[in-house]
Amino acid sequence: MTYYFAATTPQYQPATFGTVIAGSYLGSLAPDIDDAGADIWHTVPLGHTVGKIADPILKHRNISHSLVGLALYTIIVYAILAALPSYWGIATWPVLISSAVAYASHLLADAFTVEGIPVLWPWKRNFGLPPKPFDGIRIETGHWFENLVIFPAVNIILIVIIMINWDNIKRVLLK
Ligand SMILES: [Zn+2]
Repeated sequence: MTYYFAATTPQYQPATFGTVIAGSYLGSLAPDIDDAGADIWHTVPLGHTVGKIADPILKHRNISHSLVGLALYTIIVYAILAALPSYWGIATWPVLISSAVAYASHLLADAFTVEGIPVLWPWKRNFGLPPKPFDGIRIETGHWFENLVIFPAVNIILIVIIMINWDNIKRVLLK
């Protein structure tokens, strides 16, 4: 592992590496903006009334926990990266891929919870892993588990995998 790090880092600019880590972190948290959106309504005056109307739209695990959300997120991150000045030395693809994969890993982690996720939004049906009738072993609430165990582990693994395979990934994408 240390060898791979030592062997693969020289081809990366530090700015790219830092942005990959930041992008992965952001990607792993971004799907829960629909949850945060719902909470905002309880902190403003008349929020409860507005929140009741907005709740069906902003309900936890809505569009951001779907493939549509993943696609939108990827487009937004790409747009941000494309807008950055090139002299910052941030390579777009490693950041974009690792951030999108982190986002997808959040969806995957949420799929292991009892609630499941509406992965085929706007179809409102929630899907989970494992599917019924084996859903009894799903996690009761995903938050502590995904935040403290799954995300850090998955992100570190993904970053290492992407770094190790970066030459191959680049060849496939940029051919
Ligand atoms: Zn979530």
